[in-house]
Formats: sequence, C-alpha cells, structure tokens
Amino acid sequence: MEDCIFCKIIKGDIPSTKVYEDEDVLAFLDIAPVNVGHTLIVPKEHFRNALMTPDDKIMDIFKVGKKIAEALRANGAEGINITLNNERASGQTVFHTHLHIIPRFENDGHNPWNQKSYKDNEAGEVARKIIAKL
Ligand code: 5GP
Ligand code: ZN
Repeated sequence: MEDCIFCKIIKGDIPSTKVYEDEDVLAFLDIAPVNVGHTLIVPKEHFRNALMTPDDKIMDIFKVGKKIAEALRANGAEGINITLNNERASGQTVFHTHLHIIPRFENDGHNPWNQKSYKDNEAGEVARKIIAKL
C-alpha cells in the first residue's frame, strides 16, 4: 500500500527502532509510547485491521507480541496491556493491522477505558444478539 506508513516502515523507506523481525512479522517501538518500551507488532503483509486479517497472520503477531511482552516483563514492567484497535471509533489511527504491547507500572496514570453498567435484563439481550451472529 503506497501511502501506508507501516508499509513504508516495513520496506525501510521510513526509519524505525526495530526489536524483532522474521519473514512475516516486524516489531518496532511506538514513536509516541504510553510508557517506554511500548512496541507495535505488524504483519508484513498489508491488512486494514485485525478484522480483515487472516487468522494465521493474527496468530503470528500474537505469538511475537507475547515474546515481546515477556521481554518487557524481564526488563521490569509490572504489567502489560495487549491492545488492538479496529476502526476509527476504537482509536485506530494507522490502518495497517498492529498489536500494541504496552508495559505498565503501578500508578503510571494510564487509564485504558471507562466502564459502564448494564440495566436489568440488558446483559442477557446483548448476549443473545452476539450469539445470534456467531
Ligand atoms: P492506533 O491508534 O492506530 O492503534 O496506533 C497507531 C500507533 O502508531 C500510535 O500509537 C502512534 O504513536 C504510532 N505511530 C504513528 N506513526 C508512527 C511512525 O511513523 N513510527 C512509529 N514507530 N510509530 C508510529
Ligand atoms: Zn500497510
């Protein structure tokens, strides 16, 4: 994809700080980390996001992501968020599938989400709608 920033990083047209590479997957540091060490894992093949990525390629990035998470833990991270945004409404800003591996520390101030609550019977209805589409 000509105007995809991550394809340009994969091709080497744009510099990045790489931490892992194999035939199918590249991992590099996020340019604007939530905490230092925040790493992005991408399939080398271009897909818009996880929902449009074949299962085996999703497996590839999760396997590498887990290795990076273990390395970050070994370097002192107290916890790890593994995040994958899909479409603009979720916060996706780069439309090439990427897994975020985010090192976390007690009281680091990062709050990934605000939570709501269900009204009476709502959870059952919601579950039925999801099950109907599986
Ligand atoms: P998204 O919001 O799409 O899930 O995440 C995109 C991520 O890509 C952001 O965290 C952003 O900081 C990172 N990013 C955007 N442009 C670049 C870049 O040119 N180089 C690197 N290393 N990271 C980038
Ligand atoms: Zn791309």
